[in-house]
Amino acid sequence: MMPQSRAIAIFTDLDGTLLDHDTYSWEAARPALDRVKLLSIPLIAVSSKTLAELEYLNQAVHLFDGLIGENGGVISLNGVTEHYGPSEEKIDAARTQIKEAVHVPLGSFRTVSPEVIAAETGLSLEDATRAAQRHCSDPLIWQPTAKDVATAREIAAKWSLNLVKGGRFHTLCGPASKGQAMKRMLERLAVKQSNKTGNGAAQRYTTIALGDSPNDIPMLQEADIAVQIPTKHRVRTSPMLDHSNLRIAPHAGPDGWNAAVNAILDEITNTNKNSEVLHG
Ligand SMILES: [Mg+2]
Repeated sequence: MMPQSRAIAIFTDLDGTLLDHDTYSWEAARPALDRVKLLSIPLIAVSSKTLAELEYLNQAVHLFDGLIGENGGVISLNGVTEHYGPSEEKIDAARTQIKEAVHVPLGSFRTVSPEVIAAETGLSLEDATRAAQRHCSDPLIWQPTAKDVATAREIAAKWSLNLVKGGRFHTLCGPASKGQAMKRMLERLAVKQSNKTGNGAAQRYTTIALGDSPNDIPMLQEADIAVQIPTKHRVRTSPMLDHSNLRIAPHAGPDGWNAAVNAILDEITNTNKNSEVLHG
């Protein structure tokens, strides 16, 4: 049981976790999201999406208190953005070498037109344009064999980069991870909170992290409570990582997000806002 006096912070992946894999909707998570807002719990988006995409998403709904984009490469809180790299030049040079070494055609978000990104992702052309604004990571557009993936990983490693598998794409990025970015965001949240209270004491947070893909593992490992969201359309889910407090959500996407966050808040706060109780 977590101490109840500590503040809570929630870090969440988007695609396939808070957002439905096919429709990008978070509607099913609304009850838990409302509760998170009511409890003033900081909610941080941690995504392979670009800052341009995350800011646009947040502009309409103001869902998130902080944004971590490009798999941990950019961190934005209160309009102040920190870049962790790697440089665009390094990403482009590594990708060019991968393209020459593999046996399948290879494009990427940094090199193809927004029209191609739209076709690959189902995003609108405007959304695809925002998705293309990448600074330190690049999702590859290809149909690789296992050997191509191994070759690409080897080359990425030579450049001190990673090739991480998200829900849809292999993304060339790093060495910053979602886990390192989460740590940095916690430091920044603590400073923000101590400025607010003025007592100088650093706020410590009980952290909840939710994710569905291997690129979420470093973030889940950093969290006090890790929630693995099952992959949609898959019958069985086995744990992605060893964690002393790992929960596997009962459903995929925002349905699972809603159930898992509500269950955790029931456990570690005294605020059962179950609408059936309130309205029953
Ligand atoms: Mg995901």
